[in-house]
Amino acid sequence: MSQPNFDIYVQQLQQMRADLIAQIRAQRGGKIGRAEAAMDPHDIQSGDWTQVDSERDLAQALDERETAALRAIDEALQRIANGTFGLCTDCGAEIPAARLHAAPTAQRCIDCQTRYERDHPGATPSL
Ligand SMILES: [Zn+2]
Repeated sequence: MSQPNFDIYVQQLQQMRADLIAQIRAQRGGKIGRAEAAMDPHDIQSGDWTQVDSERDLAQALDERETAALRAIDEALQRIANGTFGLCTDCGAEIPAARLHAAPTAQRCIDCQTRYERDHPGATPSL
């Protein structure tokens, strides 16, 4: 169970995940949607199609950046589950709530994130 004060982040992250997948589906011209519609139209209609069994097929359709974005969301949910959410993965400091509200996938405090992006110019920004 997640801590009660993290519930809002769980909702936010799950919404981000749903939005991202919907966006990916739209970009693919509904190609993924048609495949899944053939499998389970009820999930598609309800919009709850992230739960269908073909998530593996979806993963194969993602490009690198989309995969990274989904992974960042899943990792944030994982950190909520194991109690390390909101702590900088580099220095262990608490990440300010304002930063988490703006970017619940943030895994570093602003100082460490700035340093990380400077040291890794090709890294996915703002995660
Ligand atoms: Zn830090």
